Amino acid sequence: MTIQRMIRESGKIVFFGGAGVSTESGIPDFRSEDGLYRQKYSVPPETILSSDYFYAHTGAFYDFYRDKMLCLSAKPNAAHFALAKLEREGKLSAVVTQNIDGLHQAAGSKNVFELHGSVHRNTCLRCKKQYSAEFILKSKGAPRCACGGIVKPDVVLYGEPLDSATVDGAVNAIRDADMLIVAGTSLSVYPAAGFIGYFQGKHSVLINRDETPFDDRCELVVRGKVGEVLSDL
Ligand code: NAD
Repeated sequence: MTIQRMIRESGKIVFFGGAGVSTESGIPDFRSEDGLYRQKYSVPPETILSSDYFYAHTGAFYDFYRDKMLCLSAKPNAAHFALAKLEREGKLSAVVTQNIDGLHQAAGSKNVFELHGSVHRNTCLRCKKQYSAEFILKSKGAPRCACGGIVKPDVVLYGEPLDSATVDGAVNAIRDADMLIVAGTSLSVYPAAGFIGYFQGKHSVLINRDETPFDDRCELVVRGKVGEVLSDL
């Protein structure tokens, strides 16, 4: 069975993706050879991207965040565009992503569940005023609201819970899907990775460069680049 044939037979496809979907847009993932976790920092990225670190060392958090997480010049790649097209054609019902870069929406996808939030939403912790990612990029040290409060990205940091409405939407979409495409994720970040366990539909495919815990459980494994595979559909 090919992916093309699975897609022809399906009408409620859900795509579940991670950082590997955006590497072809130039945004590094976390766990690949050239990923962020293999680079040398005096404090590990998991620590910097934690809630405790954010509140204790807000300026240092933002130095890292602006440098490594805010990739505002990145453009959607072939994978993002192919998924938006499948949605327009009425084949794909939802994108569930662990990414925070907003590239699915930039490519035209509408029903996107951002499990880990988005760099494009930023909120003053004191007065709740909203700020753009550009505001964060241009700020120095800890970004401050006009009211004096610290502005925090609506990104789920290690140690923080996921947004419950987003989780419900994602889980319902996966539970309802007749085909699941999992791609560009090591499936090592929980609870997000566990959500694919709700899939009970017919066809499942995994597109990933490296092995994942889902390899043995899905119908088809494609070892390749997500953008190249999806643009071939
Ligand atoms: P990960 O770094 O743990 O795993 C990425 C996986 O994608 C790896 O298995 C790698 O082999 C694969 N991969 C990389 N490029 C690929 C490509 N072009 N084609 C196919 N496979 C490719 O990423 P994760 O599982 O998403 O977990 C990391 C966490 O980091 C997520 O929670 C996410 O929020 C966050 N993150 C987000 C971004 C982003 O928004 N673009 C970037 C880095 C990390």
